[in-house]
Amino acid sequence: MSKAPSLSKAASLSKADSMTTVFIISAPSGSGKSTLVSELMKRIPDLNFSVSYTTRPPRGQERDGNEYHFISRAEFEERLAKDEFLESAEVFGNYYGTHRSELDKVGAAGADLVLDIDVQGARQLKGRIAHAVSIFILPPSRQVLEERLRSRSQDSEAVIERRLKEAAEEIRNYSQYDYVLVNRDVQASTDTLVSIVRSVRSRRDRMEQQIGPILETFEDGRNKS
Ligand code: 5GP
Repeated sequence: MSKAPSLSKAASLSKADSMTTVFIISAPSGSGKSTLVSELMKRIPDLNFSVSYTTRPPRGQERDGNEYHFISRAEFEERLAKDEFLESAEVFGNYYGTHRSELDKVGAAGADLVLDIDVQGARQLKGRIAHAVSIFILPPSRQVLEERLRSRSQDSEAVIERRLKEAAEEIRNYSQYDYVLVNRDVQASTDTLVSIVRSVRSRRDRMEQQIGPILETFEDGRNKS
């Protein structure tokens, strides 16, 4: 499923420059990732959520263009052939992909981009945007994950078993991430996510634009004395 970007299109990746950051967040299903991502978005301004394309049908209250762009497999394959996706993967039998235009949201008014994507997509994106910051959310244990999946009462027994098996596979990829967060408690985990975003925003390379004018005020002072 993955496809390397053509050279001409690779140029658009430079939009994700050092003044803004692409945050990649991955977790096994049932780890509480959606809740944490939405709490993070509420707590930190200037974060844009990347709305992926998927061939899976909408669930519950999901609306087209909000959580996902819901499209057919034929349309997905057509867009893939046209090299429209920055990364793509097949997860639980459905296609998912991040459209290149999502990068246009990066840098708009200094905003950072948050992507909720799986481990395959994270690997592809890290290969293309080296300074993207990746965060892996871990459940405290298999038992807790199982309890959470059961309490959602959203899935059949067979689906729960499959998700647990897939979780065990996904968790093995934690070492490809920059940060790992153990989600024991929504409040504490949201605090940690907020701290990660804030600390990345204070990195020297990101601060250069603000530092320059501050240093200039000192230059002015020296000229006066
Ligand atoms: P769900 O169908 O439960 O919303 O998502 C299933 C999995 O697909 C999750 O692990 C989610 O992170 C992942 N996913 C969602 N959008 C994308 C995408 O654009 N690319 C990739 N690679 N994975 C995605």
